[in-house]
Amino acid sequence: MRRTLTFGYVSGIPLKLQLNWFLTAALVTWSLSVGYLPQSIPDRTAELYWVYGSITAIFFFASVLAHELGHAVVSVSEGVQVRSITLFIFGGVAHIAREPSTPRSEFRIVAAGPFASLFLAASFYLAGLLTASFHPDSSTLSFYLAQVNFILAVFNLIPGFPLDGGRILRSILWSIKGDFAIATRWARNIGVLLAAGAIIGGVVMMFFGYILNGIWIAFIGWYLSRTAKESYQQSMKYMPWSGRRVKVNPRNLASFIVRSEPQNFRAAVVRVEAVRHSPAPALPSGFASETFAKNDENVQ
Ligand SMILES: [Zn+2]
Repeated sequence: MRRTLTFGYVSGIPLKLQLNWFLTAALVTWSLSVGYLPQSIPDRTAELYWVYGSITAIFFFASVLAHELGHAVVSVSEGVQVRSITLFIFGGVAHIAREPSTPRSEFRIVAAGPFASLFLAASFYLAGLLTASFHPDSSTLSFYLAQVNFILAVFNLIPGFPLDGGRILRSILWSIKGDFAIATRWARNIGVLLAAGAIIGGVVMMFFGYILNGIWIAFIGWYLSRTAKESYQQSMKYMPWSGRRVKVNPRNLASFIVRSEPQNFRAAVVRVEAVRHSPAPALPSGFASETFAKNDENVQ
């Protein structure tokens, strides 16, 4: 477990920071104050650039937080508990207690994040237009934040699991195929493929002289490929069973037990045994939320 600081609560959900977030916060504030702002708003004092840079950085990270709160609010309304929201070096994560139990529920929870970002992008854009005539500096900052939120939405909609786009893809595949496992496997494969593309693209960029951007893109690719595999394993280990009718005959009984959460192995066997002797060989819905609720699943 990485070290985190809790800096607040929203409806009982702890808001946390990983220590590596401070690196991003410093980098964003610094690059705004000495790079972006002096270029887009010339002839101001260095102090004012730092004031503007800090204010913009605060709105920048509030925007990331708003994206995660979008996921969290809908998650709670879908009956899936949210453990925490964490900001870290690459952005933010809403830790939800378990996989949503239906594709529709997953779609709603996941789409809420990019929706929040797009809404903020539109709001900042409007603020930029409204302030343009009487406070051009605020207008420039607003347009910058509109851009940030738009990029946040678009980047997250890349269909590479476990990014939002990849999860939306999974929910659609899940809905079409009616099988969570197949949908998750497909989403993971596409995610790994896109991540490999990012790594190769990053390396190619380095060869063409775009060293820093190349390293950053390759690094994100490496991170995405790792999380795609991790999230896949986590999803498969804690598959949502509620709402699914699982025929319990000796052949898939074994695979069911293998896929069960280890600490609930005994409980799973007892439940399966009980069901095996019942006339209708199906697991009752709601089984998953009891048995598989102990895991942390992440929505980014
Ligand atoms: Zn998201």
